[in-house]
Amino acid sequence: MTASFDALDAQVVRAALDDRADLFRLDFLDACESTNSVALERAGYGAPAGLVVASETQTAGRGRRGRTWHSLAGASLTFSLLWRFPPALPLGGLSLAVGVALARALEGQGAAGIMLKWPNDVLADGRKLAGILIEMVPNTPGATVIGIGLNVQLPRALAARIAAEAIGLADLLPFAPSRNLLLGAVLKELAAVLARFEADGFPALREDWLARHAYAGAEVRLSHDGVIVAQGRCVDVDQDGALLLHTDRGVQRIVSGEVSLRAR
Ligand code: ATP
Repeated sequence: MTASFDALDAQVVRAALDDRADLFRLDFLDACESTNSVALERAGYGAPAGLVVASETQTAGRGRRGRTWHSLAGASLTFSLLWRFPPALPLGGLSLAVGVALARALEGQGAAGIMLKWPNDVLADGRKLAGILIEMVPNTPGATVIGIGLNVQLPRALAARIAAEAIGLADLLPFAPSRNLLLGAVLKELAAVLARFEADGFPALREDWLARHAYAGAEVRLSHDGVIVAQGRCVDVDQDGALLLHTDRGVQRIVSGEVSLRAR
């Protein structure tokens, strides 16, 4: 626990949400395995869109493909939002759209240099500040759990457990941010971005994503289970959120979010 521990407090978050408070149902836990797992389970029992499960600690926080998301009580923000999109809505660019919402919220707190890494990471100074894990509710087309893990502070005890280069929001600000106000700000931006995504799709948010593209013009490798599946120069993302790579064989379109991107 860090010295400036501010416990999650639904009342404070609700106040920060202001006129958006009615869109969300806040459910704050002391501990759980994974907020995505809890939200998925509750979605299965019919929980409404706007359910927010946040937890002070996760005993089995997840990233993509069985990877671990590390967090520490008081230092991290880990939460999941259940959203029910129209069943036929294409969800290809959703993790990018969520990245835009996160970036806007972090910038609104005064953080500079927030960048987005395709398809699901938020970076600052080339290091990972937040991760996004989107999972579909089984057998319920359109029902989606949006999981977010954010390093508010990155004390040594937490940094030591993370293999990747990581950074905390507090490293970018002259003060320790309030997790409650931050959660309110992120949810507000999510409400706006998800409404836009639902109405106009990813194309409406694409320019906003590209303005923060961490690897724009960079030579990169994409791998799956350690096997390189594509390499080339990042040009763009398309209207569906697919990554476009300039390769020896022309422009290659990468749709799978299950690949890892690294600079060459
Ligand atoms: P890649 O960088 O290979 O694309 P990924 O985006 O698929 O990874 P995720 O599945 O989103 O990664 O997140 C899991 C990975 O993030 C872990 O393997 C670990 O390297 C890193 N990680 C875990 N916890 C944190 C954290 N609190 N802050 C920053 N990075 C973390």
